[in-house]
Amino acid sequence: MPPHSLRSRLALAAIKRALPSLVSADPVARLAEGLHVAVVGSGSPLPDRKRGNPCVAVIAGGRVFVVDAGERSAETMSRMQLAPSRIAAVLLTHFHSDHIGGLPTVNLQRWVADAAQTPLRVLGPTGVERVVAGFNEAYELDRGYRTAHHGPEVAPPSGAGMVAEPFSIPAGEDAKVVLDEDGLKVTAFTVEHPPIEPALGYRFDYRGRSAVISGDTIYAPSLIRVARGADLLLHDALSPELLKLVEDAAGRAGLDMRRRILADVPDYHATAPQAADAAREAGVGALAITHVIPPLPLKGLEAIFLGDAREHFAGELWLARDGDLYSLHSGQTGVVRSSMMGRWPGR
Ligand SMILES: [Zn+2]
Ligand SMILES: [Zn+2]
Repeated sequence: MPPHSLRSRLALAAIKRALPSLVSADPVARLAEGLHVAVVGSGSPLPDRKRGNPCVAVIAGGRVFVVDAGERSAETMSRMQLAPSRIAAVLLTHFHSDHIGGLPTVNLQRWVADAAQTPLRVLGPTGVERVVAGFNEAYELDRGYRTAHHGPEVAPPSGAGMVAEPFSIPAGEDAKVVLDEDGLKVTAFTVEHPPIEPALGYRFDYRGRSAVISGDTIYAPSLIRVARGADLLLHDALSPELLKLVEDAAGRAGLDMRRRILADVPDYHATAPQAADAAREAGVGALAITHVIPPLPLKGLEAIFLGDAREHFAGELWLARDGDLYSLHSGQTGVVRSSMMGRWPGR
């Protein structure tokens, strides 16, 4: 083997120095008491270099509840140093591919991170049992290989798969408490994302603080009712103006099927001003807009994406980025935004 170049020797020295803190990092352990909402993926199914598919990690009392697990969720969680062994459960809003595509990788990371003895809980509306059964089946051979290779102590078969916990919102109602443990209450509520039925959002209440995740929806009165008085609302949004540019470009390029798909998208997501209307009417403290459609490769497009949303809502309004951490400290009222993204991948 030829001698390493100076560049390679420096890289090797740097990684040796960084690895001990990288592998043991656990920023969740240092979070102040309260509710913390970490945006793992703030994008949509449209490939986006800046934003992963939808995924939010809600942190309460050191436990991580993952809402949706789109592609790249596990990779971005690693960059944010969110330890997979802290994942208590996954909650799915609906079964569009961009919300479930990263589920098996999140599950694998959790399983092998700390020899999980019990399967990953995946809560969701009826249908979640099919999604979980499908992924379990697709990954069954892989699980067998890993247990055979590392041994059952390191890769215990009992913790390998996922277990579905389906629930349904009773007829005539639009919300239901689906989890109530260790001071954390999670309420699922219906939103409007036709033709997807049901499509849900989730409200988290913990130690006097509250955060609401809209899931995918247009402006929805049920969300406004359930989100009433919450400290933070994460709402999806789409810019019809910017999406039309992509649609027209597809049309001019003769990509008619792609143009038709893009033309169908606006009627199942809110615009940023509509999300701001929902935030104002619900009386929430702060709004972070996520599930950004279309991608915004240039910083200058962000203002166009938001439109006049700030005129619709007087509270703090952010355009969410992957790695954002919104902290709702116990005994306080505001929302503090920071980033969990470090200089090093995995840090
Ligand atoms: Zn979506
Ligand atoms: Zn969707």
